Amino acid sequence: MNDAQHISPDDLALHALQALSPQESAAVREHVSGCGVCRAELASLHGDLAMVALGVEQQPLPAGARERFAQRLESDARAGAVEGKRSEPMSIERTSKPRLATWAGWLAAAAALIVAAALGFEVNSLRARLQESDNKIAAFQASESQAKQVAEVLTAPSAQKVVLTASKTPPAPTGRVVYLASRGGLILQANNLASIPAGKTYELWVIPADGSAPIPAGLFKPDAAGNGSLVLPSIPQGVKAKAFGVTLEDAAGSKTPTAPILLAGAAPQSGE
Ligand SMILES: [Zn+2]
Repeated sequence: MNDAQHISPDDLALHALQALSPQESAAVREHVSGCGVCRAELASLHGDLAMVALGVEQQPLPAGARERFAQRLESDARAGAVEGKRSEPMSIERTSKPRLATWAGWLAAAAALIVAAALGFEVNSLRARLQESDNKIAAFQASESQAKQVAEVLTAPSAQKVVLTASKTPPAPTGRVVYLASRGGLILQANNLASIPAGKTYELWVIPADGSAPIPAGLFKPDAAGNGSLVLPSIPQGVKAKAFGVTLEDAAGSKTPTAPILLAGAAPQSGE
């Protein structure tokens, strides 16, 4: 391409800001596509704009970047005119010629562009965060609804609870505990419990693995069919269990288990 006629710096700047008319932009694009000098200039303008726009995210208007940008364009224009490094800028047909007034308008345009870029960035990042929150809420609701259904089935008065044993063995009292130490989550399901005298209750105990005192984990009474359950009693989190036990206590419950232990089970060592 003709190296003697380059696009003037301010036309390049306006082009970078998409402030030229479509015809002017087309002329600039055509020249730039064949001219390494102008392409390099345009690339550095784009770089500056990107830097300024990014800087806005943390500082509303990085004065340094804007002044440096303006100064560099000015000195480029001067160098072109005085030192003759650039020959007469290629003239692009314009309906109106902003020239000197260009910089005021240009900086206003730059500021608008910067604000728009920063706002766009902000909106996109907010939108992404919102989407992320929506996904988390959906996942949480799904797992919560699952947990609710499990608890409903386990505790529904109309649910049939059947213990399978070797045939001809009389059904013995049994209890099943599901325990998640990290959350302090516990579910007990007991069957074939003997009915209890008035003024008494069954009480469940968590026997900690560290040898400390048994932790009371809730009171329960069997229904007419001998079934009893505890769902998420209030117990401390993070207690690693060695075993669980059920005792018969006075109706208000006890601080320490009263012998004998009616039902007991050791926790597998893998429990967390
Ligand atoms: Zn050129």
